[in-house]
Amino acid sequence: MKILVLNSGSSSLKYQLFDMPNESPICSGLVDRIGLDQSTLKHKIFKDGGEEVFQISQPIKDHEEGLQLITDLLVDGEKGVLTSMEEVEAIGHRVVHGGDQFASTTIITDEVKQKIESLIELAPLHNPPNLLGIKVAERIFPKAKQVAVFDTAFHQSMPEKAYRYAIPNEFYTEMGIRAYGFHGSSHQYVSKIAFELLNKPDAKIITIHLGNGSSMAAVKGGKSMDNTMGLGPMGGLVMGTRCGDIDPSIIFYLLNQKGFSPKEVNELLNKKSGLLGMTGSSDMRDVKNAIEKGNKNATLAYEIYAYRIQKYIGAFTAVMNGLDAIVFTAGIGENDPDMRAAVCKNMDYFGIQVDNTANQKHSSEIREINPSSSKTKVFVIPTNEELEIGQQTYRIVKGEKI
Ligand code: ADP
Repeated sequence: MKILVLNSGSSSLKYQLFDMPNESPICSGLVDRIGLDQSTLKHKIFKDGGEEVFQISQPIKDHEEGLQLITDLLVDGEKGVLTSMEEVEAIGHRVVHGGDQFASTTIITDEVKQKIESLIELAPLHNPPNLLGIKVAERIFPKAKQVAVFDTAFHQSMPEKAYRYAIPNEFYTEMGIRAYGFHGSSHQYVSKIAFELLNKPDAKIITIHLGNGSSMAAVKGGKSMDNTMGLGPMGGLVMGTRCGDIDPSIIFYLLNQKGFSPKEVNELLNKKSGLLGMTGSSDMRDVKNAIEKGNKNATLAYEIYAYRIQKYIGAFTAVMNGLDAIVFTAGIGENDPDMRAAVCKNMDYFGIQVDNTANQKHSSEIREINPSSSKTKVFVIPTNEELEIGQQTYRIVKGEKI
């Protein structure tokens, strides 16, 4: 069965085609700068253990045109990977916010679309392009099953004491203000692998997703018990451009004493803070280059970044009353041994230790980087959100309850 996974952003369409059930990726790509100048499509075909990559630059006015371009490529006489687009039996859509209405992956119906629409209030930047991707895919692939996989769904198992805020109850009951948690497909994917490696039914795992956006989850017995994000994706860890945890009084100080507008504060904390705000670049590789050149702000930002992760390891170990493994994943988690070492430094109270040679070795494999004597395992597990979405889409289309 061929399954197409779509991640539709405001001006981009990321896609990957899988052959199921063997989970082999057939091709993947990104349509970027939709509706802007210099739109591009980057397409990668996986063949005979290698990759063939090519790029098209042409005006792409909207998502419909973008998806049509992808479809034309999939069935192209020369470069195509399918004989007809009807081979695509299902499309798995990434949907960022499922509120508390979706605790699992679901086949898309009119009612599901209405609910996703009603959640736009909670995710004004993400749910509209996700919904648009669904509507466009329905038109271009009318025979395929459309499936929604929510970033928030994995965290719906959090207990109420973890997801409620200490504000008057009606703000929860009437407005849905609570912690939801994000990066669910990634936390689910890597924790499942760690869970299998540990082979222990009630394994206590902390997953640490460090990309442009970053979050951690406390996963006990395969279920998310807590996470570092809240109502939206701004809380918790230091990120590329988002501030992570701050005292709410900072917001009111800026609004009331310093003359900022709500829009400016939002922009500041979402787009101009985090690594960017502290160092001038949101990219961890730039931050590390700056550290090497002796930049003190970059050194401090790196320390704050690691310190915040350590704090949450402590908090999550406490709420799970134990810890069997921590898992590093995503761009920084997978590729920056120095950050992994900084996070694991002086954490022996938690049984966390890192073997320097294993940690420094460059690899894209799943690996264990703790010394054999370490009480807590330290894993590096490359995430694959697209595959998680593809797997869940396959299972639900086959009629499995997930
Ligand atoms: P996204 O959230 O957009 O999917 P990624 O998971 O690709 O992001 O992570 C992007 C982050 O990973 C960037 O900050 C980038 O600098 C960082 N990164 C990638 N490779 C390395 C590396 N070798 N060392 C340090 N950071 C890295």
